[in-house]
Amino acid sequence: MPELPEVETTRRGIAPHLAGHKILSVSVRQAQLRWPVPTAIRRLKNQPVVSVSRRAKYLLIALPKGHIIIHLGMSGTIRVLPKKLPAAKHDHVDVLLSSGKVLRYTDPRRFGCWLWTTDNPIHHRLLAGLGPEPLTAGFSAAYLCRQSRGKRTPVKPWLMDNKVVVGVGNIYASESLFRAGISPKRRARSLTLDECQKLTVSVKKVLRQSINHGGTTISDFLSAEGRPGHFVQKLQVYDRAGEPCRVCGAPVKKLTQAQRSTFYCPRCQH
Ligand SMILES: [Zn+2]
Repeated sequence: MPELPEVETTRRGIAPHLAGHKILSVSVRQAQLRWPVPTAIRRLKNQPVVSVSRRAKYLLIALPKGHIIIHLGMSGTIRVLPKKLPAAKHDHVDVLLSSGKVLRYTDPRRFGCWLWTTDNPIHHRLLAGLGPEPLTAGFSAAYLCRQSRGKRTPVKPWLMDNKVVVGVGNIYASESLFRAGISPKRRARSLTLDECQKLTVSVKKVLRQSINHGGTTISDFLSAEGRPGHFVQKLQVYDRAGEPCRVCGAPVKKLTQAQRSTFYCPRCQH
């Protein structure tokens, strides 16, 4: 599933191909994505792209009359391709650009979405109520500490809650807690301000590393055969059950929390 770093990598990859160019037309081959692609998107003609931004895992393409809101779902990818390249089976949406290129959306599982809004997209039902962006100043130790008061939930699933902070997926939650030295089993309310400080720093670091890595694959994924850069970084604990901790050598442990696998070092994390 594309996580926040992959979505940000996609945004950075497509933005220069969209901003300052026009959308000439949109062709939808398969409208039945997670929700039907609205006709307002299909009817777009000669619309200059104002900007391409991101909120949580949603891409927002700003046009003069509204915004296209895109989510990649479980298996969605977006590439910029020469327009003459024929579409394949799962290529559901093509956006023809004035540059002569095409922005192509591919999604075998069709859990992604393309929606349209003429309001401020931040108030859209999918985006309203989301917690702060992890890489902004709003995601601070003080904020996290305030949010955690009275929360009995174990810290790992709590950190993955979009209302607390967006974009901390399963891998990033385990990795951030390891770097912060905090056991994933701790109740959120037990975190001290100092621990919240360590945790916010770790989350930002892990996500930045991942985005920087994704950034190096941008040219790749813009090629016809390319795919979005998949996050590969030196994982400290994730998917390493039974292997020695890279810091202390103790075997990494695995447990299930809220139906998701958690990996941690029982010696380094308290
Ligand atoms: Zn360890």
